[in-house]
Amino acid sequence: MKTIIEPFRIKSVEPIRLTTRDEREQLIREAHFNLFNLDAADVIIDFLTDSGTSAMSSKQWGGMMEGDESYAGSSSYFRFEAAVRDLMPFRHIIPTHQGRAAERILMGIVADAESIIPNNTHFDTTRANIEATGAKAVDMVIEEGKDPSNEHPFKGNMDVAALRDFLEGNAERVPIVMLTVTNNSGGGQPVSMANIRKVKEVCDAFEIPLILDACRFAENAYFIKLREEGYADMDVADIVREMFSHADGMTMSAKKDALVNIGGWLALNDATWAEEARNQLILTEGFPTYGGLAGRDLEAIAQGLKEIVREEYLAYRIASTRYLGRALLEMGVPVVRPIGGHAVYIDAKSLLPHIPPLQYPGQALAVELYLTGGIRGCEIGSVMFGKQPDGSEEPAAMELVRLAIPRRVYTQSHVDYVIECFEEIVGRTDELPGYTITHEPRQLRHFTAHFEPID
Ligand SMILES: *Cc1c(COP(=O)(O)O)cnc(C)c1O
Repeated sequence: MKTIIEPFRIKSVEPIRLTTRDEREQLIREAHFNLFNLDAADVIIDFLTDSGTSAMSSKQWGGMMEGDESYAGSSSYFRFEAAVRDLMPFRHIIPTHQGRAAERILMGIVADAESIIPNNTHFDTTRANIEATGAKAVDMVIEEGKDPSNEHPFKGNMDVAALRDFLEGNAERVPIVMLTVTNNSGGGQPVSMANIRKVKEVCDAFEIPLILDACRFAENAYFIKLREEGYADMDVADIVREMFSHADGMTMSAKKDALVNIGGWLALNDATWAEEARNQLILTEGFPTYGGLAGRDLEAIAQGLKEIVREEYLAYRIASTRYLGRALLEMGVPVVRPIGGHAVYIDAKSLLPHIPPLQYPGQALAVELYLTGGIRGCEIGSVMFGKQPDGSEEPAAMELVRLAIPRRVYTQSHVDYVIECFEEIVGRTDELPGYTITHEPRQLRHFTAHFEPID
């Protein structure tokens, strides 16, 4: 059959409040034209993030009633540990309340002011946790990964030659090498198995452990199955196992590919590091068998990990993201290619050439999507990255709007509605105004800045 259906039925529903354009004009003005300031109840389709926004299954909700809330040695922990180890065969598995807690604990152990940590592209919390120790974070994604229209099948790959050259001169300053699968900050692009293997070979030559930032490991494994020679007939769970067989540890946000609303973990093979990590964990997260989570959360993760590697789920997931991306491309909306796993990224600089970068074309498109359809996306451009440490402003490399798709939450008709909103906008893009910032905090301004449209 050509139609790829949502491989689930809906048992519990959450009403969406439908607003009118007039209401939204008032609401966005009250939010100072910043979508982060809106009440979620005033949003019709929320594509702000895929993090922690998944719909859980009836089995996950059932598992929550079975949560063992014992302080130490909870049976839910052992079910969680077994589910993780079934896919990621690490010796030590340490639960945390989310991904950044795993990052903070790991960096506290391995990094200091002299350290440098390479990655394909560091996610912003990973970079921040590295820099908080005084260490440096460097990105080494392949050149193709920086070009939004290049169709390379694995644009998340690490530039292995650059990594080797870098380690020749700096190995003693590099405590770990990281690889982010899929590469979130680089457009959600996958990393090939061949690349993971080669990065591991280089790491071995310099005796440096390889740690995967594995938030979207299942989407990455499915792209390997679809696009890499030799994997078409392999079970996704086995592809996942092979990916992790090349690593010495991982950090994980369960809010992504574990299909839950909160959670994460740190996994390591090294016993000394693991002991230090557990000591750190007790200081800020909790006892090693719950680590900042309730027993019921551990149950939901254990079940989520079984569901995320099912092929019918992944086929639907990747097809539904591609469905939105292809429809936008067909109507001439420039989109980052190939379409990634968890989000569609629109190139607002090309779509709105009349708005200069420092009048924020991404913000202009994001506001218009809200006005037209109550859709909330996220600007990833000069609002987010334009402010320099010395207070000056420079245009970002790209002016993107990210539409991140929550897992199992929206149906095809929701996506058709989003597509119709774009059809309504593309005929009058030249009417969209640029924006000016009227108020901003010193750091991370995109969350709280106030904007005004320019006449
Ligand atoms: C979300 C994310 C993190 C951080 O995880 P949180 O659960 O949000 O703390 C780290 N790395 C990547 C690639 C992510 O997408």
